[in-house]
Amino acid sequence: MKITVWNEFVHEKTDERVRAIYPDGMHACIAKFLTEAGYDVKTATLEMPEHGLTDEVLAETDVLFWWGHMRHEKVDDAIVQKVYDRVMQGMGLVVLHSGHASKIFRKLMGTNSDCLKWRESNDTEIMWVTSPNHPIVEGLGDHIVIPHEETYGEHFIIPEPDELVFISWFTGGEVFRSGCCFKRGNGRIFYFKPGHESFPIYHHPDVQKVLINAAKWACPVNRETFRYGHFPVRPVDELNIQ
Ligand code: ZN
Repeated sequence: MKITVWNEFVHEKTDERVRAIYPDGMHACIAKFLTEAGYDVKTATLEMPEHGLTDEVLAETDVLFWWGHMRHEKVDDAIVQKVYDRVMQGMGLVVLHSGHASKIFRKLMGTNSDCLKWRESNDTEIMWVTSPNHPIVEGLGDHIVIPHEETYGEHFIIPEPDELVFISWFTGGEVFRSGCCFKRGNGRIFYFKPGHESFPIYHHPDVQKVLINAAKWACPVNRETFRYGHFPVRPVDELNIQ
């Protein structure tokens, strides 16, 4: 499986506290544990030509991870369209944390960027598993505790998820649908809420386990490039009709 981890990579360069947690960027941290899990992982960032998402990179990517926050609007619409087209063909997409407001997530969901409540108050987040037989929670217990995390609260304006894997509760009282599966075209999309830049969320072993599982779940089983549109009649013997 080939994974590309995309990060806008701004906080880590502009905020000392974030750099202390992710000295090489969040994408490097995520790529490291995915690589250790046996996947073939590349990284890409906003500042690279074509944001690191060239036709070649996208064509080879089975699952794309996406972390963005400050620079959603700097992402080129043409690249967003290419990512969208790849999802339609079958590429998996894992959208992390503030990626709910990214152009690609909004385009796939039909939502806008102002679609949830948030607060940075170091609440504890408890993620309750709502689908204990789902491949994304394989190897986990019935909940994950994240000692300090940004609070996100309902309501969260998204289409009804095809499958809900986690609901989070925060010590401030809010709840949030924090692990949501969607299918768009031939592609599988997982939205995963944790990942605020000021906390070491992607160092958390259970968070890593979820993302390793999510990559496996989102990976297409059929990598052919599907053709649509007009099809000529095929000779009956090609269809193996008995
Ligand atoms: Zn955040």
